[in-house]
Amino acid sequence: MDEHLTTPEIEQYGEKELGDARRAELDQHLAACPTCRARVARANRMNATLRARPRAQPPRELAARIGAVVETRVAQEQARRTRVPFIAAATFFATLLAVWFCLELDVAFRENRVFDFWALFTSYSDWFSTDSLDALFALLEALPLSEIILTLCALMTVGVLAQQLIESLRPRVWQFK
Ligand SMILES: [Zn+2]
Repeated sequence: MDEHLTTPEIEQYGEKELGDARRAELDQHLAACPTCRARVARANRMNATLRARPRAQPPRELAARIGAVVETRVAQEQARRTRVPFIAAATFFATLLAVWFCLELDVAFRENRVFDFWALFTSYSDWFSTDSLDALFALLEALPLSEIILTLCALMTVGVLAQQLIESLRPRVWQFK
């Protein structure tokens, strides 16, 4: 027998799981092959080390704990389902509010002639001329800041609520095996 021992054979040899004939064959190879002798010795050492290690005892009441976790998950799942309509309604009304603020913002922009000042400001080729700076300051003064802030807040609220809604609707992947 010229071939080296396979990894399963080394395992079986160490565990003495081989028939006498096969074992004799492997013994014959091992007698002539220092490489395989070293592999068998290493496997034996590793097995001995593994046996000597204290086994981690499964914690007591493990089943009870797993049961509690599953119950918590089920409760969370039910809470999530009851929450979905509320989040959906909140998202809907927040969207309406945001649309309303956007329209208000548009009205404010028109009333304050922001677009006119913007057009005026961009019409100057030299942005640092006196006329251009006048237009810029007029533009900045015309900006309806409170409306802008309110609209941004409303849009952010819609974003957060929509994210929660998507999160609530997405089916959870249970990681239990
Ligand atoms: Zn060998």
